[in-house]
Amino acid sequence: MNYDNTQYAVRGTRYELIDTHAHLAFEPLINDIDAVLKRSIEAGVTRWITVGTNMDENRKSVELAEKYDNLYAALGIHPHDAKKVTAENLTELERLARHQKVVAIGETGLDFHYNFSGQSAQKEVFKNHLALAAKLGLPVIIHSREAFDDTVAIIEQQGGGVEKIVFHCFTGTADQAKVILDKGWYISFTGVVTFKNANDIRQAAKVVPPDRLMLETDCPYMTPEPMRKQKVNEPALMIHTVKFLADLKGVSFEELAIAATANSRIFFNIHD
Ligand SMILES: [Zn+2]
Ligand SMILES: [Zn+2]
Repeated sequence: MNYDNTQYAVRGTRYELIDTHAHLAFEPLINDIDAVLKRSIEAGVTRWITVGTNMDENRKSVELAEKYDNLYAALGIHPHDAKKVTAENLTELERLARHQKVVAIGETGLDFHYNFSGQSAQKEVFKNHLALAAKLGLPVIIHSREAFDDTVAIIEQQGGGVEKIVFHCFTGTADQAKVILDKGWYISFTGVVTFKNANDIRQAAKVVPPDRLMLETDCPYMTPEPMRKQKVNEPALMIHTVKFLADLKGVSFEELAIAATANSRIFFNIHD
């Protein structure tokens, strides 16, 4: 495969990027994890938050975080799987989430695009996750698709004890971004912002100030342009999204990288 990861990020630069949302326990990434992380480090993406979406992945995510120094975990059950959640799952989730390398609860939220689980089941599990995050003092990674108003309403009603919220893989409008910013929450962008048809998302990215923005791959999905033909996304490719966003916002690659990394460290309480 023809990687061009050193195009923007070279060894010895002052910035280090954090991929704040990667599914490293997913296949095929997990099968080749050492090489995936090595390519990432070569591209300047030196820390990762791997995100679990079901209990099997949550366990694997904690194992990965235990094995690799700069790798952290976020644990949750995706709204797609809400209908399958048992009381036992939630007990185990809480036990796993007390691990010192677990830095967030999520992804959790509402997905009314696919509706793989009924909307009431999704809302119930989302509220459980918010309560768990409040109890453990952890930030929450929100997945929201075609459910913006309901997502915001549930956070307002149930998220009282939650200190920090990020809307991940933001695909909303500039007006929705403003609502999130007004509430003091964060917004994270994936390679979707580079897609041809993503004009609304680009308008939204323009209104997000550097101190409220984070970066992620959501790999193995959402491969950014110009690498979109490479079907499996991975953390090294995040630099293409950074470059694109920097150009869009009229700042340098390095400025955006430094700001996003500082935000991510504060948000996820990563200080090593
Ligand atoms: Zn998501
Ligand atoms: Zn995800």
